[in-house]
Amino acid sequence: MRILVTGGAGFIGSHLCERLLSDGHSVLAMDNLITGSTDNIAHLAGRDDFHFIHHDVTNYIFVSGEVDFVFHLASPASPADYLAYPIQTLKVGSLGTHKTLGLALAKGAGFILASTSEVYGDPLVHPQPEDYWGNVNPVGPRGVYDEAKRFAEAITFAYRRFHGLDARIARIFNTYGPRMRPDDGRVVPSFISQALSGKDLTVYGDGSQTRSFCYVSDTVDGLVRLMGSDSAGPVNIGNPDEMTIAQFADFVLDSVDSSSSIVNMELPRDDPRVRRPDISLAREILGWEPAVPLREGLAMTIDYFRGRR
Ligand code: NAD
Ligand code: UDP
Repeated sequence: MRILVTGGAGFIGSHLCERLLSDGHSVLAMDNLITGSTDNIAHLAGRDDFHFIHHDVTNYIFVSGEVDFVFHLASPASPADYLAYPIQTLKVGSLGTHKTLGLALAKGAGFILASTSEVYGDPLVHPQPEDYWGNVNPVGPRGVYDEAKRFAEAITFAYRRFHGLDARIARIFNTYGPRMRPDDGRVVPSFISQALSGKDLTVYGDGSQTRSFCYVSDTVDGLVRLMGSDSAGPVNIGNPDEMTIAQFADFVLDSVDSSSSIVNMELPRDDPRVRRPDISLAREILGWEPAVPLREGLAMTIDYFRGRR
């Protein structure tokens, strides 16, 4: 197939491009580089089956020739990024998703939206199944991302119902791995960078909030399986292995063998207290579950960050 990946120069997008190429597809990566980098896809440059298009998907999208499938990943994803680019985040989730759906419709292509566990907000149901509607503060700082993705989900299913577009939704939970920016502000690159440079690990709040971390190759495999399935979702893609952020800080210190200390800082507003995916649906409809344990995935990520220093 000829596949368009928006956000293709980003962290998950670049890994998805690689996986699709190795599965024999040809790939168009589209990105405006607001939080991504051509460094992530430089090793793919020059291949006949790979093309990069520098474009902001909130503007009309023109792609010549056939497109069989669209993965829509374009959006700032780190809380620090979407707080720095609130309007762009709202625009890419709304206008960008509209334009990308329009392209898929014009080309007769299938479509997957990369949605997020943030649609569940600060969840009152734990773990989170897909039929939980969420607890989001629309006017809080995180609302720019959460509501953009909720709108993106709504318009994706409207295109499915109204236009008959083969549109699907993956709700991705915290994903980590090589090619995250060391300074993107997310907890995995922050703690690893701090541990490697002997700086204090900045635990927000008392560290009792929980997250469940999924290695990027597992997330990408879930997305590829969703493309190959006949299900629309929404389907959770994440690792149910939950831990507190305080436990995660200790885990990173141990994995890096670092002598850094831990310092507690103010908890950001509306930071979800708990997060863990219920992946029963993904197991059932995709035959998918994560394969990479945290210790292994973290070791590969630490190697990447060491190499960049
Ligand atoms: P990322 O910031 O590394 O990648 C996002 C990419 O989108 C970047 O390359 C950025 O330049 C590009 N982009 C942003 N706005 C654009 C626009 N208007 N036009 C074209 N390109 C644009 O983040 P990521 O972690 O790789 O996330 C990828 C997708 O997965 C996002 O949609 C994110 O919401 C979703 N997601 C990620 C996670 C995670 O833990 N990494 C969790 C849930 C959902
Ligand atoms: N966090 C932290 N220290 C950091 C960065 C993040 O304690 O330097 C916490 C953050 O408050 C949240 C969790 O780690 O509870 C995960 O944050 P991240 O930004 O990675 O993503 P989120 O899951 O909040 O979208």
